[in-house]
Amino acid sequence: MHELSLVADIYRTARKAVDAHGPHRIEVVRIAVGELAAVEPDLLSFAWEAVTAGTPDAGSRLDVDFRPAKQTCAACGVIPERAAGSWLRLCPRCQGPLGIEGGDDLDVLNVTFEEEETPA
Ligand SMILES: [Zn+2]
Repeated sequence: MHELSLVADIYRTARKAVDAHGPHRIEVVRIAVGELAAVEPDLLSFAWEAVTAGTPDAGSRLDVDFRPAKQTCAACGVIPERAAGSWLRLCPRCQGPLGIEGGDDLDVLNVTFEEEETPA
């Protein structure tokens, strides 16, 4: 399951960003995942639980912002429909070549963390 190593990477990135502010607990990590990034958004959430278990960030949440790709045909314009089951890069209307834009996102968008009071 390559989602697990991916999420471990995301966690390291998020942890580093939070560490820069101090010893805070992560609440929510928001990521962008494109439909062409070849990851299963549901599996990411499970992997997040597994990766953060036993860390101070256990119980935090991974929010996935799913980004569809945009298909454009030179003759027909933007094509919202998908060839069933696979990415056939031909226009389903005129069989011309399709241009694909975006959809390969895999980014950490932002990290929300808990501000802990320093004991007096
Ligand atoms: Zn077309």
